[in-house]
Amino acid sequence: MKVLVIGGGAREHALCRSLSQDPAVSELHCAPGNAGITQVATVHPVDQLDGAAVSALARRLAADLVVVGPEAPLVAGVADAVRAAGIPVFGPSAEAAQLEGSKAFAKDVMAGAGVPTARSYVCTTPAEAAEALDAFGAPYVVKDDGLAAGKGVVVTSDRDEALAHAASCERVVIEEYLDGPEVSLFAITDGVTVLPLQPAQDFKRALDGDEGPNTGGMGAYSPLPWAPEGLVDEVLETVLQPTVDELHRRGTLFSGLLYAGLALTSRGTRVIEFNARFGDPETQVVLARLRTPLAGVLHAAATGTLDQLEPLRWDEGAAVTVVIASEGYPASPRTGDPIEGLAEAEAADGTSYVLHAGTRVGDGGEVLSAGGRVLSVTATGTDLAQARDRAYGSLERISLKGGQHRTDIALKAATG
Ligand code: AMP
Repeated sequence: MKVLVIGGGAREHALCRSLSQDPAVSELHCAPGNAGITQVATVHPVDQLDGAAVSALARRLAADLVVVGPEAPLVAGVADAVRAAGIPVFGPSAEAAQLEGSKAFAKDVMAGAGVPTARSYVCTTPAEAAEALDAFGAPYVVKDDGLAAGKGVVVTSDRDEALAHAASCERVVIEEYLDGPEVSLFAITDGVTVLPLQPAQDFKRALDGDEGPNTGGMGAYSPLPWAPEGLVDEVLETVLQPTVDELHRRGTLFSGLLYAGLALTSRGTRVIEFNARFGDPETQVVLARLRTPLAGVLHAAATGTLDQLEPLRWDEGAAVTVVIASEGYPASPRTGDPIEGLAEAEAADGTSYVLHAGTRVGDGGEVLSAGGRVLSVTATGTDLAQARDRAYGSLERISLKGGQHRTDIALKAATG
């Protein structure tokens, strides 16, 4: 199978790494890729938002499967363009990707499907926003309706801050605050059959102890030893399958990755948000534990044959990933700094490795930071404590000027 992956973050590096280990994959390509992805795939400097350019590349490579990683190309219709060229593609249509692209649309689908989520109002004026904030009370949750790379959400007890965020967005969703721990559950679907993966937890805030601003994600781990038994089955039955069925009923086949961000509240499981693609950094730990070769699974989703797939096989152990971000992330990340110690950080036995996010190769062949989140140091182990030790052990060997990371990824879960 010749596979082309679209995107250039740590999620795509994780996808490429898994695909490169799949014996069914004869050729692996990535556009635009990053400095790390070049080690496992041939990279192509193609604009990932340009559907015509992506499908032309897929045709030229005679790709058997195109995997679209990030949300922006999906919302821009890149999967539609590839599908129209007759090439199997893993990733939903622009219409189906509205589940992530518009929080208001997602709320509407959830209402139709009877999926439990926070009560909410869609607001377009300051007066409406003020009324909605007062209806729910503090803490306030204000979400930009459009795509914001995980950074459009403000959760605060400061009413003025909540109002200011609402005023800075064209349209916002204001919703009730959900308490309780968060879980990310991914499912692979062809629009009919839904195949849940293993749950993970990510760390959205920039600083230890869940302080600081929201980010795209600073680390993740899987499995969740504290999660209630039967959680995956419950979420499949009450959230994932009804959502896919509701979209189907509306004439929209959602094929690709459906990501449910969940809060396990005192009143039951609630959906915080849906994403229409693999989440970053949870993908790094979920794929680290997947034993079934990845290409066949993604190809089955892309061709509507998931019902014929054998049950997925998982590593019983644990995986942890820790993100190294550049100085100033998330507000104003500094780029262009050299990164050292990358080779030394990887374990010879493959139990820890470095996935690149925002990196590029400089003129002298050196690896430079090129984004907010720069690297995702990933490790596996028999349990979370071992995976954690390995991840942080590797991370210590890497140097990036001004680089920042959290020191408490998976700490609570590992120490019980
Ligand atoms: P989202 O982009 O919707 O995932 O939101 C980003 C983060 O904001 C989530 O991971 C939560 O930590 C937090 N958040 C979003 N919605 C709520 C809510 N209704 N109640 C509490 N926290 C929330």
